[in-house]
Amino acid sequence: MRASRFFISTLKEAPSDAEIVSHKLMMRAGMIKRLGSGIYTYMPMGLKVIRKVEAIVREEMNRAGAIELSMPIVQPAELWQETGRWDKMGPEMMRVKDRHGRDYAIQPTSEEVVTDVVRSELKSYRQLPVNFYQVQTKFRDERRPRFGLMRGREFVMKDAYSFDKDVEGMQKSYASMFDAYTRIFTRFGLKFRAVAADTGAIGGNYSHEFHVIAQTGEDALVYCPSSDYAANMEAAEALALSSERPAASQQLVKAATPDTTKCEQVAQMLGLQLSQTVKSLALTVEKEENGRQVKENWLLLLRGDHELNEVKVNKVPGLSAFRFASEAEIVDAYGAVPGYLGPINTRQPVKVVADRTVANMADFVCGANEAGYHFTGANWGRDCPEPMVADLRNVVEGDASPDGKGVLAIERGIEVGHVFQLGTAYSAKMEAVYLDEAGKPAPLQMGCYGIGVTRILGAAIEQNYDDKGIIWPDAIAPFEVVLAPMGYERSEMVKAEADRLLAELLAAGVDVILDDRGLRPGAMFADWELIGVPHRVVIGERGLKEGNLEYQGRRDEAATAVPAAEMIGFIK
Ligand code: ATP
Ligand code: MG
Ligand code: MG
Ligand code: MG
Repeated sequence: MRASRFFISTLKEAPSDAEIVSHKLMMRAGMIKRLGSGIYTYMPMGLKVIRKVEAIVREEMNRAGAIELSMPIVQPAELWQETGRWDKMGPEMMRVKDRHGRDYAIQPTSEEVVTDVVRSELKSYRQLPVNFYQVQTKFRDERRPRFGLMRGREFVMKDAYSFDKDVEGMQKSYASMFDAYTRIFTRFGLKFRAVAADTGAIGGNYSHEFHVIAQTGEDALVYCPSSDYAANMEAAEALALSSERPAASQQLVKAATPDTTKCEQVAQMLGLQLSQTVKSLALTVEKEENGRQVKENWLLLLRGDHELNEVKVNKVPGLSAFRFASEAEIVDAYGAVPGYLGPINTRQPVKVVADRTVANMADFVCGANEAGYHFTGANWGRDCPEPMVADLRNVVEGDASPDGKGVLAIERGIEVGHVFQLGTAYSAKMEAVYLDEAGKPAPLQMGCYGIGVTRILGAAIEQNYDDKGIIWPDAIAPFEVVLAPMGYERSEMVKAEADRLLAELLAAGVDVILDDRGLRPGAMFADWELIGVPHRVVIGERGLKEGNLEYQGRRDEAATAVPAAEMIGFIK
């Protein structure tokens, strides 16, 4: 590739709405272009990275025996009604009507459609197991789209769905996907961790998330450095609450049993003082998200003299269905949903008072509306007007690991993949059966497996950057090597050598770009350092006269002279 025939558009400054490094750098490197909230055009430089991510995903999915298909983005409501998710998905699912007034969903995920494919196509146990996957556009009307591709509304996901005849088979398919994911994230060249995820009300089911480790991650991961225990914070907390805890924590847990949910009472028992006008209620909302029960933890600050136990929460359909029995006015609501802090939507008119009174409530402990799910020891310190998600902890660094093999450490991660054993949750509702060896119909055992293809770009950058820009791992870099000629137009010698290297590297299968734009060296280097190409070869007359080229890795402090004749071997 020649830079003059590619499209390169870099910026000195990131737009002001870009909050985190990856978003800023992707905007500055001209990888994405914002069209609307959470909606981006993948520019040529960004698309090159996406295609490399997709290629690795496809190779490993195929290697694991999964079969690619592609399901429609616009899906008839009837299918979603069969599983009840048309109502349960809530506002995150985008809906449209056609000219006849019929309802459609824009796929946030595709369990219904794939189950429909399978129930009509699969007849016999002989066709099992089968695993279908797609790499497709998804749309989720996220409550708070942000961080560029990290939490977009339109994004690309690889979603796979396995079907087996029995639980044992499903577990095998799951293990095979788990291994494929491990290979995929290893090949990306990223530091990652697979963690057990809370399965909530689905009970016997089983789930893991794959996280790219990064300071800016929205999720907290709990792990034991001296064993292989690893879980996301929710799962770690659920486990902690159900098992033996140190004496102090147990006392707090007891204090927050359901019949003492009133914060006042909890506070009294613990000898803490609450502000008189503002009370709070911590609660856990269970809702279904993409076929999984998920729990969101919320802290509501309520103004007024109402009794807190009058507050009734309609648990099933999610946040939009909060109903308050009395005239509670929500002063503010803080969700311990990773990364989200801000007002929630309720069907009641909600007045959000700007002047927060959180400071009056320093050091209070909150209760919950449900046995077994509550946070204890939440400390909304005086100096913390915006309570941090990290404060809502029941598991802290240094706690004993549940496997007894050491103490726990906590780090932050970005969820880039999620694997799940679904069992018959969908097949039962949609009557997806196969005929077993005896010719009797039996429900299919299902698993589902997602990878956030476009989110990987953001996650990779959060893990690999410096003050000059992005540092792509080789496997997903937009170009592996940039050839930077000093005076391409001026010097015959430089031009000839640059052209030779371009041709030979291409022939050797290296994804290389020759910067023939005629920029001054400083501007040229700055562009490629910002874009994050991992290897740079400078071709200059002075070096060439001694038979040398200059090589510099993106992380290297200085360039190394490499004989021109050896450069291809050096890079390969
Ligand atoms: P999150 O917790 O970040 O909202 P999720 O648990 O809702 O993600 P899944 O339903 O598990 O997401 O979807 C599979 C994968 O799709 C996720 O692991 C993530 O990598 C990716 N993904 C989900 N939502 C988005 C989004 N809004 N933008 C980009 N990628 C996303
Ligand atoms: Mg989500
Ligand atoms: Mg999640
Ligand atoms: Mg998930």
